[in-house]
Amino acid sequence: MSNNTTRPDWGKLFASLLTEPGKLGEHYRLFHRYSLGNQAMAVFEMTIRGIPIGPISSFNGWKRLGRRVKKGEKAIALWMPVVKKDAIRKDDGTDEEVTKRFFIMKNNWFALAQTEPIDPENPGTVPIPETPTWDRELALKNLGITEVPFTEVDGNRQGFARPDRAEIAINPLAAMPWKTTFHEMAHCLLHSKQADVAFVDGGHINRSIEEAEAEAVAFLCCATLGLPGLEEARGYVQDWLGSPAQAEEFAKKSVARVFAAADKILKAGSKAGEGVDHE
Ligand SMILES: [Zn+2]
Repeated sequence: MSNNTTRPDWGKLFASLLTEPGKLGEHYRLFHRYSLGNQAMAVFEMTIRGIPIGPISSFNGWKRLGRRVKKGEKAIALWMPVVKKDAIRKDDGTDEEVTKRFFIMKNNWFALAQTEPIDPENPGTVPIPETPTWDRELALKNLGITEVPFTEVDGNRQGFARPDRAEIAINPLAAMPWKTTFHEMAHCLLHSKQADVAFVDGGHINRSIEEAEAEAVAFLCCATLGLPGLEEARGYVQDWLGSPAQAEEFAKKSVARVFAAADKILKAGSKAGEGVDHE
């Protein structure tokens, strides 16, 4: 984009977000879903062994992501369900088949920090693209947002935000780290306790609206900067909104908030002399 390029029509884009087909990214299903108990256990084990907390997967799971377990790394143990069929002899002499379900401890898991790329040229992580007009570091600085390490065990999560502390974290294995960056920045701008008071009457807005708002901001930022992920953003927003009625409500109540946040994020990272004009 050059100096004088005007933005794409945000009104049309916003409408397309709710009406055009989207898809839910495969990346929300790449990792096994661990129970909360297992996640807590994994965090505990990583902490006492001094392993940086991050996504975990099995030996073969990492291999599928293009990474391998480093030499000498010891696996993390978690509880895994085991199903066993057994026969019980009944009083009348016949056998009844029963299914027994129980848990065993299995040393089967490795954290991201215990792995390395199989092919150094292709580390399994997606680099954050440079855009000619928008600078990520600059945006973080101008918005007063701090990036912190991604300390989640569930690798399906692309990132997280702590709006009240103005902190974001991006999963090093995020499929579309730029889209996730905009999404988490939007949470900080729109969904901190102070922001809620300023923007929403009657207190807190519900989770699905928060997610749709953050993703709509990411959608506008990606579309304006020419970054991919639009189809995935539509899929995500429509999935959270669920019904046409809620989509209509969202379009009325959130459009101004979404535009304001996207505008702020784009301006905050705008490289000197290449400010995007405000319409
Ligand atoms: Zn979110």
